[in-house]
Amino acid sequence: MPSEGGVCVLAEQRGGQLQEVSLELVSEGRKLADKLGEQLSAVVVGSDIAELAQPLIHLGANKVWLLDSPLLATYCPEFYTDALAHLIETNRPTIVLSGDTAIGQDLAPRLAARLKTGLVTECTALSLDEEGLVVLTKPSYGGKASSIVVCPKARPQMATVKPGIMDTGTPDPSLTAEVVKLTPECSSELKTKVVDFIKADPKTISLSEAESIVAGGGGTGSTENWRLIEELAEALGASVAASRVAVDARWAGSDRQVGQTGKTVNPKLYIACGISGAIQHTMGMKDAKMIIAINKDRNAPIFKLADVSIVGDLMEIVPAIIQRLRELTKSSQDSQGVA
Ligand SMILES: Cc1cc2nc3c(=O)[nH]c(=O)nc-3n(C[C@H](O)[C@H](O)[C@H](O)COP(=O)(O)OP(=O)(O)OC[C@H]3O[C@@H](n4cnc5c(N)ncnc54)[C@H](O)[C@@H]3O)c2cc1C
Repeated sequence: MPSEGGVCVLAEQRGGQLQEVSLELVSEGRKLADKLGEQLSAVVVGSDIAELAQPLIHLGANKVWLLDSPLLATYCPEFYTDALAHLIETNRPTIVLSGDTAIGQDLAPRLAARLKTGLVTECTALSLDEEGLVVLTKPSYGGKASSIVVCPKARPQMATVKPGIMDTGTPDPSLTAEVVKLTPECSSELKTKVVDFIKADPKTISLSEAESIVAGGGGTGSTENWRLIEELAEALGASVAASRVAVDARWAGSDRQVGQTGKTVNPKLYIACGISGAIQHTMGMKDAKMIIAINKDRNAPIFKLADVSIVGDLMEIVPAIIQRLRELTKSSQDSQGVA
């Protein structure tokens, strides 16, 4: 079997939409492939997915494999593993990257076991050492330390990478690449069947998985006022988080605490309401993509980190945002004719 080598990204789609982490990984994979002087390929598994090749090519994939079959329309652990293991064994990339999503967390370990190789999960940074081995950084001890791992012997070197950490890069529509469509056959009798996908409830989802977070701190002032933090989160479909002062005041449970003795989070949006920005808090949320801070003290340290700084009383600002969000939701429902 010829060895193609190179970097391969398992590009995840759901309902015909590429997950953003897949675009992030193609951009990152492009950088690794360039440094190695090798090819970058991407694989999409699903049904009727031809149009998903283009965005991956525009971000630098040299080749896109489409494993396209009606039987692959929704995630099926055994069939996806069979189809991808066969493709990887045939083409033998040296590095395989997957998003650390619910599907990636299930699929990548199955694949690694099938391919008899190692897997590093929840990676937050990728680089190459002088021998061209991929150096994988992942948080340990709840984000309080980092582990740096290489896989010197087994191939491919496999990793799942946390969503939202890397840039999606700038697409170049002039790029072209080979697209290969394959229709894998389901060889074995499937023992599992996915019956339904239920979207996680932001109220109960683990904070480390949350895409958007509204966090309240000591400035919230009372249990009664805390309701505003919850209402803003609800209006945005976000999860609620808290500083330690808010947890100590019992406005939120300890599982909602962000920071040194709480959770490390990396959402796309973090709204800090009445949080001073003490280092013990910010070390848990500094990697959020967009930080909006509301604080009545213009010198509050949180503003040094914020992308958007709102100086003022959260008791006035938060209700105004909630009202505006409700108006926007209502007018969008009205325009869609929702009763
Ligand atoms: C070992 C150790 C570990 C720790 N671990 C953590 C941790 O994991 N997480 C954590 O969060 N903290 C942690 N802390 C505590 C940390 O040092 C801070 O005390 C804490 O983060 C402060 O919380 P806060 O900013 O919400 O409250 P405060 O310090 O009380 O600040 C409240 C802020 O709200 C503003 N404010 C007040 N009223 C309003 C209003 N009406 N509108 C707008 N703004 C207003 C104020 O200007 C102020 O900036 C730890 C401390 C230690 C020593």
